[in-house]
Amino acid sequence: MPYETSVKVKFPKKKRIALVAHDSRKKDMLDWARYNKDLLVMRELYATGTTGTILEKELGLTIHKFKSGPLGGDQQIGARIAEHEIDIVIFLWDPLQSHPHEPDIYALQRIATVYNVVLACDRSTADFVISSPLMDEQYEKLVLNYEKERMGQIDKLIS
Ligand code: PGA
Repeated sequence: MPYETSVKVKFPKKKRIALVAHDSRKKDMLDWARYNKDLLVMRELYATGTTGTILEKELGLTIHKFKSGPLGGDQQIGARIAEHEIDIVIFLWDPLQSHPHEPDIYALQRIATVYNVVLACDRSTADFVISSPLMDEQYEKLVLNYEKERMGQIDKLIS
């Protein structure tokens, strides 16, 4: 049966959160981050370029900024997720507009699911996530062992 094994990956005590907001959701993200600022300052924060710049400027948060989303920032976050370097993604995306970097948006959502990171795509989920008691605990997530399955297929692929 596929994916019958999982690997355990520890979230550190200081959770690493990536923040991404599409243009029409940036004000929402700013309001949400302002409201939750005291909880956010205790974490290690990452963001796509424009979102991060707004949050730094308006709220004085310290944020590791990637490139702007359409210029590769979503993919940079995805790469960090694949390396188990990001635990939580708050991604306020716009469901009513298409974007030039649509494939990157889907890729970020997909890779977040592959690696079982916490993914909040709306403010209410983000509120529940940021106020969860698990935020201050050592947490061990299970990641389905797709890699073992992939490697197990090698012989079949070349026979
Ligand atoms: P931005 O990117 O924060 O640089 O605007 C967000 C996005 O992925 O569109």
